[in-house]
Amino acid sequence: MSDKILLLPGDGIGPEIVAEAERVLGVLGEAYGYAYETDRALVGGAAYDAAGDPFPQVTESACHAADAILFGAVGGPAYDALPRDKRPESGLLRMRASLDLFANLRPAKLYPELAAASSLKPELVAGLDILIVRELTGGIYFGQPRAQEDNPRRAYNTMVYSAEEISRIARAGFEAAQRRGGKLCSVDKANVLEVSQLWRDVVEELAPEYPDVTLSHMYVDNAAMQLVRDPRQFDVLVTGNLFGDILSDLAAMLTGSIGMLPSASLNADSRGLYEPVHGSAPDIAGQDKANPLAMLLSLAMALRHSLGQPELAATLEAAIGSVLASGQRTADIAAGGPALGTRAMGEAVCAALRERAG
Ligand code: NAD
Repeated sequence: MSDKILLLPGDGIGPEIVAEAERVLGVLGEAYGYAYETDRALVGGAAYDAAGDPFPQVTESACHAADAILFGAVGGPAYDALPRDKRPESGLLRMRASLDLFANLRPAKLYPELAAASSLKPELVAGLDILIVRELTGGIYFGQPRAQEDNPRRAYNTMVYSAEEISRIARAGFEAAQRRGGKLCSVDKANVLEVSQLWRDVVEELAPEYPDVTLSHMYVDNAAMQLVRDPRQFDVLVTGNLFGDILSDLAAMLTGSIGMLPSASLNADSRGLYEPVHGSAPDIAGQDKANPLAMLLSLAMALRHSLGQPELAATLEAAIGSVLASGQRTADIAAGGPALGTRAMGEAVCAALRERAG
């Protein structure tokens, strides 16, 4: 039976980068015998234009039928004045909720050739390869009660986690550490917050089930400092929604190249949504300038985490590495040097894949 992959191009540069993912899938099919079928649906502004809703029912049904979803990006100035529930970004939030995508995986990997793009000194970040596992559907963003009281100068939110919610994201962290370098750092604020003490207790309880993983704990303020001081000390970090939101953006900037960062959001069945960290980049949309590598690295994550193809994932990542090593760059990572367009970069990755297949 072939894997079902749903393509959701979205807005701005989304269609251009998803087209390159489709091209790469074609090569994986032809040259590596990978059996898959694709479907496509509208999301974001494109869906609003066609159906008056950024996440129509037909798209939701297609999401539930897919093994993996490749999502480009949504949003753009044309939609900024719409009411909040009609805006493209609300389609993405509804998709996450509908699929119960509680585990957000954000790798921050620095290819050696791009070390100069980081805002840190190259010697601190060369070879950086860390993964942040962020809880995505709970914590303070969703906790009840929440309110702006009758007094307009007072408002509150509540950080709530149940042991079950902590346990499932902690397991995602332990399992990721098993696949990688065997080190897991759980980030909390247990010195101040009761919810963080529960977090730490639950993570500790699970540790004996993963004897091959070395577990440590760190307060979030120290974690922010350590990520800038010596980021390579980490392998996998697991943390709650709010802390993960902040730390994953911080870690992303360590690599300096927004066009290079993939992400995955998984549910309990390991079905997932795979998307670049960047947005729809309206300033370069339709100009064949977007870097498609974050999208292609997101496809590699889909192959690894939802589609049971870890070897194809590694092959695709190696092909991307070899393209960078050969000096080929899109404008965002070219540091003023010669640059390929979106399509030419996709084609370069396809050529590297064909070459590897022999
Ligand atoms: P952005 O990530 O779209 O762009 C920021 C800057 O990075 C721009 O200069 C852009 O040209 C550049 N950039 C981004 N991706 C690139 C790529 N692949 N190759 C080369 N350059 C790239 O962020 P923004 O400008 O703050 O937001 C634009 C729109 O995207 C907004 O409507 C925002 O709401 C939306 N957005 C969507 C998502 C998503 O779909 N997941 C995420 C973030 C922002």
